[in-house]
Amino acid sequence: MDFFQLKGGIIHAENLPLTVLAETYGTPCYIYSAGTLRRHARVFREGLSALPKVHCAFAVKANPNLAILRILAKEGYGADVVSGGELARALAAGMAAEDIVFSGVGKTAAEMRDGLKADIGQFNIESIEEGHELAAIAAEMGKCPAVTLRINPDVDAATHAKISTGKAENKFGVAIDHAADIFAELAGHSSLNMRGVAVHIGSQLLSLNPLKMAFERVGNLVQQLRERGLTISHVDLGGGIGVPYKDGEVPPSPAEYGAMVADVTRNWDVTLMFEPGRVIAGNAGVMLTRVIRVKQGHGDPFVVVDGAMNDLARPALYDAYHDFVPVQPDGTNMMANIVGPICETGDTFARNRPIGAVKAGDLAIFRTAGAYGATMASTYNSRALVPEILVDGDQHALVADRIDPATIMAAERLPDWLD
Ligand SMILES: *Cc1c(COP(=O)(O)O)cnc(C)c1O
Repeated sequence: MDFFQLKGGIIHAENLPLTVLAETYGTPCYIYSAGTLRRHARVFREGLSALPKVHCAFAVKANPNLAILRILAKEGYGADVVSGGELARALAAGMAAEDIVFSGVGKTAAEMRDGLKADIGQFNIESIEEGHELAAIAAEMGKCPAVTLRINPDVDAATHAKISTGKAENKFGVAIDHAADIFAELAGHSSLNMRGVAVHIGSQLLSLNPLKMAFERVGNLVQQLRERGLTISHVDLGGGIGVPYKDGEVPPSPAEYGAMVADVTRNWDVTLMFEPGRVIAGNAGVMLTRVIRVKQGHGDPFVVVDGAMNDLARPALYDAYHDFVPVQPDGTNMMANIVGPICETGDTFARNRPIGAVKAGDLAIFRTAGAYGATMASTYNSRALVPEILVDGDQHALVADRIDPATIMAAERLPDWLD
């Protein structure tokens, strides 16, 4: 459920017609609904209400906008960060340091120091090499961070290959068969508080089965570690729940997910940690775009919109589907190829798709663009960096500027030896 609904013939973001927002801010742009974001944050947490001890950390990479992080901080969420840049954002948005988890396979020494200096709540480490390095840096700084070891459970998450992370051949985590030995070795460092294990098998998961299988493997590992006399107080179960991009796509609900987790973890006696991203932010945003022209093609016409693959990369990157809806539908339909202005064929949002009819000058939205949308934007083809607007009831504000090509060009230099 989201708050981008048709009222009086115009799609609104909460109480505001998208026609007014397009007039005010120009297109293309991202529009976020604060109410939708809060609703998803609460529904996810309610799904976990049967679990005794829970910590939720929003996966910042899904939507790192400061205003989004501030709303989630107020909802009691922490942050799952994967770079020094995301760590700085989470802190700037008002997330408590102890609620921040630092994940990622390639943390640099400088990023480890940043996290240690801020006294973040937990590092999720992904290799023995990383563990030894963190131990050395922590010792040097007189710190003893809480750490979990990320496991690669070798399960197929049945999602797009580029967002699947829990197969043995993926770069993430340590092989579950070696995890107990690695954990025991790292627990020997007096500068690490090795307190648990972590797992995250992929994103946009539409079935609970692979998650359940991964969690069961983690449960066996926890038991093994305890049998070796090691103390396990925390297990981080990652993120990954999908959202419906398309009619007929039915991801597990937070309640179903929570019930499965409660069942699998009933004897674990740990604090369970979660890192949801897409399920919180996906439906809370749309990309608003204007049709530049409709060009007759070999087959269906090309609807050329002013948003492009640099603004919303998911279709080009993952063959992802985003629903395309006219802001003022007239009730008629057409078949179309929806494309942006960028000079490559990858800049295609949809092929041979039935859509509500549009013509040059009309506004339309790509739905479910609140996660992995603006955060992946680039300036390819020397286009502006797409702006972001937040709506909350009757209020609206620009929460990320449109960065124009001149500003981007101003950061470039011509060395004088080229003259
Ligand atoms: C990307 C990521 C997440 C969030 O995934 P979603 O599918 O957006 O919920 C959580 N944890 C880690 C370690 C990630 O890399």
